[in-house]
Formats: sequence, structure tokens, C-alpha cells
Amino acid sequence: MALPTGVKYVVIGAGVHGLSTAYHLALALKSKRRGGGADVLVVDKTGIAAGASGIACGVIRNNYYQPAMRELMAHCVEVWERDSAAYSYHSVGYMQISPECMREQVGTIYEQQQAIGYDSVFVEGARDSDKYMKRIFDDWQARGITSVLHEKKGGYANNTRSMYGLAGKAEAEGVRILSGVKVTGFERGSNSGAVTGVVTDRGTIRCEQVVVGVGPWVKQIWDMLELPETVTIKGPDGTRHQNIPMWVYWSLQEGTLGVDPDLQKTNDGEMPPVIHVDTDAPLYSDVDGSLITEELWGIYYKPDFHFGGVQGGAMPYKVATPPDDVQVDPYGPDSPDFIVGDEFAHMWCSALAHCQKRFMGQIGRYKKEPSGGIGCFTPDSFPVFDRFCENVYVIADSNHGYKMIGVGELVAKELLGERSRLLEPFRFARYAEGRLHPTSNSPFPWS
Ligand SMILES: Cc1cc2nc3c(=O)[nH]c(=O)nc-3n(C[C@H](O)[C@H](O)[C@H](O)COP(=O)(O)OP(=O)(O)OC[C@H]3O[C@@H](n4cnc5c(N)ncnc54)[C@H](O)[C@@H]3O)c2cc1C
Repeated sequence: MALPTGVKYVVIGAGVHGLSTAYHLALALKSKRRGGGADVLVVDKTGIAAGASGIACGVIRNNYYQPAMRELMAHCVEVWERDSAAYSYHSVGYMQISPECMREQVGTIYEQQQAIGYDSVFVEGARDSDKYMKRIFDDWQARGITSVLHEKKGGYANNTRSMYGLAGKAEAEGVRILSGVKVTGFERGSNSGAVTGVVTDRGTIRCEQVVVGVGPWVKQIWDMLELPETVTIKGPDGTRHQNIPMWVYWSLQEGTLGVDPDLQKTNDGEMPPVIHVDTDAPLYSDVDGSLITEELWGIYYKPDFHFGGVQGGAMPYKVATPPDDVQVDPYGPDSPDFIVGDEFAHMWCSALAHCQKRFMGQIGRYKKEPSGGIGCFTPDSFPVFDRFCENVYVIADSNHGYKMIGVGELVAKELLGERSRLLEPFRFARYAEGRLHPTSNSPFPWS
């Protein structure tokens, strides 16, 4: 397809946010009789699902300590449910299984889920938690657990399949998706104001609005737009913390145990909920019994035919390299720097065995293929959804985002002038104004 010289909306990135925005924008333009899919062009330097959306574990949950995240996720789950087949979405539910230091906070999540009508069950106490888990998996044996939050909605979706489903829906509405087009800069109006053209390695596209959905590459586009490298954050006590870097990279650790996914069926022979366990019980090696850690640790897992086994991950780690020097490309499994190694396999497989007897002695089945990938995080590890340079909408999800399929629908509405209450808590100005999200005791930066 030839590169158009001009189009109303240019969307950069064919991941979950770019595709969802393009699809919902096409629908909204049509319903408002203000145009349609032909007004929307998605460009991607590689292709559909080439970024984080194409390698994500695919877990979809509501379990967030931050009220604004929960409300937004409830909307996103509703969007997943609208077309489970096209989105390859499995509504099996999700379980947050926690130690005492997280019980109270998870309890508030449950209460607020009830308040917004999000179906979940909360079990408290070591004995009742164990009983509840054994009713689902008779080989349950995790220690140090004193609460279980069982979300009846959510679950997971198959990463690349859902992206192709979303792309198909967008294209059916007339959206054009161009692969192999890399954005290299922007043409700006007088006084470096609004963007008038998106510069690519195949030419310049004149446009009225730009949407940026480039996941781990967001820092590169941010720099091209000459947006601030650092921010000032007003803390809860009013202190202003200056020169905080806007972006930091974390490396996500995920892998697959190459067993028959049916191995993880429930006592009733059903596909199980996604399991997320955090615990402060010591973790011992399933290989030689040595101590792996006595610190708070966490893992998540689910049987997944798309990955060909039981797939999941553990806590990510912060990338020590200065953000300007981090090599995002080649991305994901192709990266020489950010794939998991033997240490992850040992920890994660031992943790699986800690939780369920059926995984004991199975480390030999761990798939020795490259996995994992990096995410680009904001200063508070929560998304920034906002307009910059007058007409550039940046969707920077801080790596929360595969599950956030509904954000594109809300962004599309904002592009057409309807402000979204759900997106309001994620504006860039929150840092300077001190409107920060509460932080949880979880060992993960995204809970
Ligand atoms: C290993 C891993 C597991 C994860 N698991 C989960 C999970 O279970 N649940 C969950 O909710 N989230 C998960 N995430 C986070 C989630 O995947 C991301 O937050 C989300 O996919 C980001 O979507 P996106 O559309 O912003 O970006 P991406 O999906 O990364 O897409 C960005 C696209 O932009 C393109 N691009 C970049 N630069 C340019 C340019 N200059 N010009 C043109 N195109 C460009 C890229 O080629 C890419 O296709 C995981 C992330 C990782 C890395």
C-alpha cells in the first residue's frame, strides 16, 4: 500500500492501544456522522502485535489497590466480553492469593469491587484460605497464605490472536494498517506547536491528530516530541521532588512449563482461574532443597494452549542501564539483553511446586526458549493518558496495558471532544499537582 500523503488521524503503533483506538475511533466517527475508518491510518515500524502486546502473558484482572485503576479495568473487562471469540478471550476468572501483610489492602480491593458491582469472593484466615483453594485444586500446598480474592470475571486472552482479531475489526471499518513504516520525527507548526505532519522513513504524512501507542518505545517518541526528560513530583506531604526521570525500564520475567495444559485443570475438570500467589513463606528449590529466598515473593500462572503449557511469570526487575542507553530493539525474545535465564526457570518452577504438588519434579519440562521482555514505566508506575503539543494523544500505559483494551474506546471519545471521567486520574499534571495513586504492599510494581 502506498503511503498516504495526508489523513485526519495517524495512529503510531499496532499494539493493543493503537488498534483499539483506531477501531473505536472508526466506530465513533461513523456513529457521529463525522467520518469513518477511512480517516484513520495506523503505522507500525514492524507490524501488528510486534511489540509488548504480542508477547504479553495476556492476564486480565481487576485486582488493583488503586480505585481509579479498578474502575478503568472494570470497563476494559466489559470490552473484552463484548466479543470473546474475536479477542480470543477466556473468561476463567482470576485469583489473588496473599500473605498477612497484604490481607488488609486486598480486603479493601474486595470491598470496592462490591461497590462497583464487580463479582468477586474474599476469603480470610489461613485455614479457610487453604480450604477454599483445596476445593479448587486438591493438591494445593502453598504456605503463608491468609487471604484469597477470587475475581469471577477476567482471566486471560491469547496475545497475538487477540491483536489480529482487533486489527480485523478495525480494517472491517475501513481503517488502514501500514506495516514497515517507522516514525522518525514530527513536523510542527509555528512556535513548535501542534504537529502538522508525521515524518516516517517512507515519507511525511500530513494530519490533524496523532495518537501514540508505542508501548516500550514511548521514550523515543516522547524525545522526538521534545517533551520533558524529568518531572517534579509533589509528594503527599507537599514536598516537591525534582528532576525525577520520566521513564524507567523494567524487565519482565516470564516462561512456560511445557506440560499438557490440561494438567492444571480444577478438581471439577474445568479450566482454572489465573493464579497469582504472593507469599512471605521461604521458597526452597524444587531441585536440591536449597533456600531461594526468604523475602516476599510472587508468581502468576495459567494453562495456555497458545503457549503450549502452563505459562506465567514472577516479579520483574528494574533495568539498571540509564534509560537513554537502553536498547529496546531487537525486542522481546529477540533481545540479547532482556530474556530470562536459568535463574528465573529455577525460581519460577520451584514456586509452582511450592503452590501445587502436581508441579513438583517438573522443572525438566521448562521450555528453554527465549521469553520475557521490557516495559517502559512512568515515575509512579501508573499510566499517563493525555494530550501533548495540542494534538498528540499519548497512551503510555506503564506496562499495565494488554488488559486495557477499553482505553482505546475512551481515547477515541476524547479525540472527538468527550472527556472521560475514567481517564482523568491519569493525566500528566498529576505529578506536579500531587494527585498520586495510592501504593500497595505487593512485590509487583503494577498492583
Ligand atoms: C513479557 C510481558 C508480559 C506482559 N504481560 C501482561 C499481562 O499479562 N497483562 C497485561 O495487562 N499486560 C501485560 N504486559 C504489558 C502489556 O503487554 C503492555 O502494556 C501493552 O501491550 C502495551 O501496548 P501498546 O499498544 O502500548 O504497545 P505495543 O504492544 O508494544 O505496540 C507498540 C507498537 O509500536 C510500534 N512502534 C514503536 N516505535 C515505532 C515507531 N517509531 N514507528 C512506528 N511504529 C513504532 C512497535 O513496532 C509495536 O508494534 C506484559 C508485557 C510484557 C513485556
